[in-house]
Amino acid sequence: SDQIVIVGAGHGGVQLAASLREEGYDGKLILLGDEKDLPYQRPPLSKAYLKRATPEDGVLLRGPDFYPQNRIELALGERAVEIDRAARRLHLKSGQVLDYSQLVLATGGVQRHLPIEGAHLNGVFSLRTMEEARALRGWLETAQNIIVIGAGFIGLEFAATAASQGRKVDLFELADRPMARAVTPQTSAFFAKAHTAFGVNLHFRSSVTAIKGENGKVSSVVLSDGTSLPADMVLIGIGLVPSDELARASGIDAPNGIKVNERLATSDENVFAIGDTVYHYNTHRGAEMRLESVQNATDQARTLAKLLVGKPANYDHVPWFWSDQGDLKLQIAGFLDESDKIVLRGSYEDRAYSLFGFKNGALTGVESVNKAGDHMLARRLLGEHILVTPEFIADPASDLKALVR
Ligand code: FAD
Repeated sequence: SDQIVIVGAGHGGVQLAASLREEGYDGKLILLGDEKDLPYQRPPLSKAYLKRATPEDGVLLRGPDFYPQNRIELALGERAVEIDRAARRLHLKSGQVLDYSQLVLATGGVQRHLPIEGAHLNGVFSLRTMEEARALRGWLETAQNIIVIGAGFIGLEFAATAASQGRKVDLFELADRPMARAVTPQTSAFFAKAHTAFGVNLHFRSSVTAIKGENGKVSSVVLSDGTSLPADMVLIGIGLVPSDELARASGIDAPNGIKVNERLATSDENVFAIGDTVYHYNTHRGAEMRLESVQNATDQARTLAKLLVGKPANYDHVPWFWSDQGDLKLQIAGFLDESDKIVLRGSYEDRAYSLFGFKNGALTGVESVNKAGDHMLARRLLGEHILVTPEFIADPASDLKALVR
């Protein structure tokens, strides 16, 4: 009989369970997660939750009643350790064994470990889970000298908040600009300036080579040029490693995350994967990739729910993302890294602008700062493949809204 087992109760897993019921799936539904907290949203952990602008239950993905009401067997604190593909059985660390008709891996990823001395001292954090966020927020109350390693979204969001609370914040990044893998050089330059104004001391092309401690607690960091800085708290945000070990151990193809086809099936037709851990062909990119975003996890979940109940569906949704840093809201739709032409609307001075990226005359992506309207419009232009020229975008007199009317 039908028994769908979902491994991972994060953004993707919870959305899939909800969507399966919405799409009319009537069989058994088991949602496993190795964290103990009721499933919650991750983005606020480096935003509203960190600033204490939301209570803890304000970040839950669904209320506690949602699961029993929808006949979703939520098993928290349970870790899947082995897939017996021939018998269609999943083994849990607790010793329990679950039969499945279909298995879905929504296992996300873990923060990349920094292999330097002192990375395990008290006061050294990474930020992926609620458990880590709780501990980190506690330390932030008393820490004075804060070191951030990595100028990615999480490091920058945290740095801006810490600086706004009057802490001394030094951020180290190996690349020569912030968010180097995710945004245009123009937006990197804009944010570098903004963070300096927030009070964050930015250090590019430099790294921390060791963390020193006293009585098991961080006390200073050593830099690549040999100097050292006092530190009573360190946040490491140097990227994500996909949690694909369960798939790989059972022989499922996982070159850089778990590989899926256009039906989100892995190399085993009864095993599917969604979210951060997925390596897929992205139609907007025209290449295989992993995407780490709420959009990707939830849209893949909605697509897979349809497919699992036998409805036609395709994962071809417009990729989009946001990040809140200080008073700046960055929003990205599509991709700009292969653009051969970038057109600015708005102005950097006004702290409200959008960059429209074109490749061979076609719009491929839009980066917006404090321009939510442009972002929503960009998602429609890209999703509905509406033709628009660089000249039209470049003319301040053009009415962009007329394009989607
Ligand atoms: P997750 O939400 O990570 O869920 C996976 C779950 O599976 C985890 O609970 C994990 O512990 C569990 N698991 C793994 N292996 C096993 C196993 N073997 N057995 C049982 N359970 C297992 N995205 C945005 O779009 N915008 C943002 O502003 C943004 N900000 C972020 C800020 C922070 C601090 C973080 C950490 C992430 C942020 N993200 C943001 C990224 C976003 O949260 C992820 O893309 C999203 O959570 C991916 O969902 P997922 O279901 O793939 O994985």
